[in-house]
Amino acid sequence: MSEVQTQLAADSTQQVSFDTKVAATKVINLLGLDRDALEAFFATIGEKKFRATQVMKWMHQLGITDFQQMNNLSKDLRNQLSEISCVQNLEVAEDLISTDGTRKWLLRLHDGNYIEAVFIPEDERGTLCVSSQVGCALDCSFCSTGRQGFNRNLTTAEIISQVWLASQLLDEEKKPGRKITNVVMMGMGEPLLNFDAVVSAVRIMMDDFAYGLSKRRVTVSTAGVVPAMDRLGDVVDMRLAVSLHATNDELRNELVPVNKKYPLKELMAACRRFIDKQNSRSRITFEYVMLDGINDQPEHAHELIKLLKGIPTLMNLIPFNPFEGSGYRTSSKNAVRRFSEILHESGMTTVVRKTRGDDIDAACGQLAGKIEDKSRRHRRFEEPRFGME
Ligand code: SAH
Repeated sequence: MSEVQTQLAADSTQQVSFDTKVAATKVINLLGLDRDALEAFFATIGEKKFRATQVMKWMHQLGITDFQQMNNLSKDLRNQLSEISCVQNLEVAEDLISTDGTRKWLLRLHDGNYIEAVFIPEDERGTLCVSSQVGCALDCSFCSTGRQGFNRNLTTAEIISQVWLASQLLDEEKKPGRKITNVVMMGMGEPLLNFDAVVSAVRIMMDDFAYGLSKRRVTVSTAGVVPAMDRLGDVVDMRLAVSLHATNDELRNELVPVNKKYPLKELMAACRRFIDKQNSRSRITFEYVMLDGINDQPEHAHELIKLLKGIPTLMNLIPFNPFEGSGYRTSSKNAVRRFSEILHESGMTTVVRKTRGDDIDAACGQLAGKIEDKSRRHRRFEEPRFGME
């Protein structure tokens, strides 16, 4: 089986019951439990449901990690929680601020791996770009994360910890405009190959007792894992971004190898099904990295218009961010302008994404983290589903 197939097969075996999960880990990290899971947790220790929202507020909104400070819980409950659970964050290994205000964190996981998260301030919003895996198995030819290989999935707690830490550290800046208003799962990894953990994390991001982000402000980005796109549309309502990058299978097979398993025809059909499940105002964001002489010619723009016909689209053109040994060049400004004009004229909403934070290697496709051992792919089967030890 290919790596992607192995991961897909693993997804279907991930439906571990709550009790098994509790038994699998001595100390549960409550940061990684969405409201349902937290309510189930409190039920198993004989507590009322509303404890879940109380503790969520303390953790996510007030930034409190010490149960003893949660003063609307009884002393006995606080002591019990301290014994059987924890609120454990990742360790900040590096904290860099770009000249353009972009801030990037290198975060250390308990097993010695590192991942990255990036905050991108804009006029009207602040976007946090979050990682979903240590490395990535998809091997897109123009992405430096892919070159790093793949080690394991992140737990829900590890995904949410990126949001928790960024909120706290941005708050400490005490400057206007330094608040997370949007989250995009566009950091390291393929979110839809870490389905359950990502869905729980998205639920926590959107929960009014946690980060309270609206469904239009949380985006999950995929290179096109078709069956998972269908499942996603069934279980959670948020924005979907699809990394397209090519208008025909031949080129897409080369740039985004998962296309060999789920070719464009299937991908486009999945996009249509996704839109059908959402309310009428939703649209799909398509990402298209502009590679000089490869996919940036006017004929590609025309093919793109044909391919996306009938799909409510927000087109994001991303100038390629070069890295050593990539073998690709960034499209010229003229080529990008001509390309976006053709799309505009067809009525497609098109945005050319500004390159942000490239002085601190924080731009799209530049997130590399540090991966301890890229060959330990089997580890994901042995790990408890949550708890970071
Ligand atoms: N695996 C998911 C999530 C990653 S999102 C996905 O593919 O959608 C990161 C986005 O940045 C993707 O659209 C990716 O294709 C794009 N990207 C990767 N490397 C890049 C690079 N060197 N320059 C510009 N964009 C890049």
